[in-house]
Amino acid sequence: MPEQTHLTGLTEPELIAFAGNLGEPHYRGRQIFGALQHRRLRSFDEMTDLPLAFRAKLAERATAATLTLESRYVSEDGTRRYLMKTHDNLPVETVFIPEERRDTICFSSQSGCPLQCTFCLTAQLGLLRSLDAGEIVEQIIFALNDAYGPGVKTPRGVNLVGMGAGEPFLNFEPLLKALRIMADPQGLFIVPNRVTISTAGVVPRIRELATIADRPHLAISLAAPTDELRNELMPINKRWPLEELLAACKEFEKSLKPSERFTFEYVMLDGINDSDEQARQLANLLNRHALRAKVNLIPHNAADPLPYFPSPPERVESFKTILESKGVHAFVRQPRGRDIYAACGQLAARREKLILPQLKQDRNAVIPG
Ligand code: SF4
Repeated sequence: MPEQTHLTGLTEPELIAFAGNLGEPHYRGRQIFGALQHRRLRSFDEMTDLPLAFRAKLAERATAATLTLESRYVSEDGTRRYLMKTHDNLPVETVFIPEERRDTICFSSQSGCPLQCTFCLTAQLGLLRSLDAGEIVEQIIFALNDAYGPGVKTPRGVNLVGMGAGEPFLNFEPLLKALRIMADPQGLFIVPNRVTISTAGVVPRIRELATIADRPHLAISLAAPTDELRNELMPINKRWPLEELLAACKEFEKSLKPSERFTFEYVMLDGINDSDEQARQLANLLNRHALRAKVNLIPHNAADPLPYFPSPPERVESFKTILESKGVHAFVRQPRGRDIYAACGQLAARREKLILPQLKQDRNAVIPG
């Protein structure tokens, strides 16, 4: 398989060139792009509008899909987690979150993650490998087909968040290429305005993203209001400490559209980063840099063997009230898919459901792929 070209990771012009190299006219490249990206087909056999001989030639030289489903987990709240594997047998996880107004797909940019955020289960895998553009696009195709049916138009459109496994900004070029492919009106047509990428704080890439005209939205995982605590929770802070990070955010702010705010994600860890004093420190930090941002407060999603617990609801409320009293917009994000290891910070290729005392354990919801 490695010598075969993964066609889902090619733009339409690249597919036209690919078809040309096989001695085929340009329109064949456009046909393949439409079949993969618009009709969301995952095998050449299904592309019955292509001549049989051409399909055979394609099968020798290329592949339409490389990810295979290992398991599909369905949460009590309707969230679905797909555990897939790459052609070289590495785990890839994707989460589909049904929502009232517009469904969301959370995709991974890497298999595992090299960063060592102590509150995140993915960190325990280490970096297995960065995903290529095709592997990123395929996750979305897979989730859309599962949710709506192969090729069926999404009923209300869909939002994408790059908040699954991995640090997207450590896989920057493939990520941008995947976003370009998905934005094509002849394909999935998911424009960057519908995409939010979350970073742990890779400062040079924040600055670079600000220069890209058609860029996705940005979210930054903060987790602490001081360097001392952030060094502990997110070791990337030793490389790019808060002042540097927020200076880059300030720079990024110049690229915001009038209605756009960027987001800080703040995971709330009981007794670690959720005191009233820390809320004041956080508000002061953001106000000192005069940032047009909002803060999403995310009660931690407990998962063995992480040594943390979620902040209790009244603590989260108090934290939020203090932020708002100091002029910082704050929202509490309700966890989704906790019972199937699909929530934030829980993606670690777990082949099980999570046993939570308040949740009914429903083994039938684990559907092997
Ligand atoms: S929180 Fe994100 S960046 Fe940090 S270890 Fe987990 S996946 Fe990696």
